[in-house]
Amino acid sequence: MPGETLAEALIAAQSLRTKNIAAVFTHLGENIADREEANQVTAHYIDALNRIHSAGGDSLVTEISVKLTQLGLDLDPDLCFANLQRIIACENKDATVWIDMESSEYVDRTLAIYRRAAQSFSNVGICLQAYLHRTKDDLAALLPLRPAIRLVKGAYNEPPNIAFANKIDVDKNYFLLATGMLRAQKAGTCQRAAFGTHDVALIRRLADFAASEGIFSNSFEVQMLYGIQRAEQERLATAGHRSVVLVAYGTFWYPWFVRRLAERPANLWFMLRNFFVA
Ligand SMILES: Cc1cc2nc3c(=O)[nH]c(=O)nc-3n(C[C@H](O)[C@H](O)[C@H](O)COP(=O)(O)OP(=O)(O)OC[C@H]3O[C@@H](n4cnc5c(N)ncnc54)[C@H](O)[C@@H]3O)c2cc1C
Repeated sequence: MPGETLAEALIAAQSLRTKNIAAVFTHLGENIADREEANQVTAHYIDALNRIHSAGGDSLVTEISVKLTQLGLDLDPDLCFANLQRIIACENKDATVWIDMESSEYVDRTLAIYRRAAQSFSNVGICLQAYLHRTKDDLAALLPLRPAIRLVKGAYNEPPNIAFANKIDVDKNYFLLATGMLRAQKAGTCQRAAFGTHDVALIRRLADFAASEGIFSNSFEVQMLYGIQRAEQERLATAGHRSVVLVAYGTFWYPWFVRRLAERPANLWFMLRNFFVA
């Protein structure tokens, strides 16, 4: 994280822009307790969009990514949808409001809200998780909407009847889904195919596949987390691909950090080493 505040995130986006890297902002926080909190998160994102728009950004627009549980999904789907609508209505038509995918119990509800939003707005995107057995069918069912999709491997601890347990199977499924998205992009049935991964070997295989399909370099999009695989982020931008960095900020960083640690325990040693060396 570049810092806890939106102002720090804006500075980070500015510095990424000098390297031709775009940013997506996300305000850290999960399941909120009441309607008032959901409204506060919504107001925060609307304020963030206003500040992003007044900061400008030429062709490299800064976008946002939201978690529906932060907008009230657990309390009332209609409240959540109304909040999402208010946010999307404040976004420019050429920029996407991304919806994160949370744990498997939320997938149906998240997809239902995405579908409702996509009926009225073309600038809304959804995250799909390659570790879920169901995602192949979800992707096929979404294509008639001409969706914008960010494909990730998946960050939650899911049982084997719901998600592939072995990394190799997740990676295989990711490639299968990603190539399907690229074909759909070429056919015009996927508005935007974005790959949220730091897996460099996978990214290179996908970039080769995209090139072999005749997809222009600047339509091949990779999104990574702030500060991870920086060299690859820059290499992608230099090669003319769409390189995007998810910039998280906010005070609710601890559970997020723990989830990143669970994904990759080596991060603990990385953090401790930097802490003591600094
Ligand atoms: C832009 C973006 C948005 C995301 N949105 C969601 C979402 O909405 N829902 C969801 O479930 N998940 C989301 N994720 C997380 C995702 O599901 C994975 O858990 C995460 O990206 C790690 O998987 P990987 O694809 O990078 O591949 P891996 O195979 O896990 O990692 C490949 C290599 O990348 C490096 N790496 C990966 N993660 C880290 C890390 N945390 N720290 C340091 N190095 C690392 C390592 O070198 C590793 O060997 C998102 C990820 C990104 C980048």
